[in-house]
Amino acid sequence: MTTRKKQTGTASSRGGYNYMELMSEWELKDKDDRFRDKAACKNADPNLFFPEKGASKLFKEAVAICKTCTVCKDCLRFAMNNEIQYGVWGGLSPKQRTRRRNQIIKLLEGVE
Ligand code: SF4
Repeated sequence: MTTRKKQTGTASSRGGYNYMELMSEWELKDKDDRFRDKAACKNADPNLFFPEKGASKLFKEAVAICKTCTVCKDCLRFAMNNEIQYGVWGGLSPKQRTRRRNQIIKLLEGVE
């Protein structure tokens, strides 16, 4: 089971996305964040990646950037391994990542 401090707030409620802040707030299980050097979102508006609920236009803009990203799989792995519960990572919303995780768990249960 992942040991993690409580994830609180959204980027905008905390005054903007700050990765180092997240690192200090969370006990990350997967700390391999080298993908960030090649991230397509490196210079993008952080608010795109942490849209308020219902801000589908911003979400779509973020996903469009993710589709051009060469490290998308690594980003998704990082988010899923760390069970990050908000923001767009690997081109997926938190809900989509949860759905993906549940599909994987079901698949693995079928293997046993
Ligand atoms: S997949 Fe999206 S959120 Fe992840 S590093 Fe690439 S552009 Fe950024």
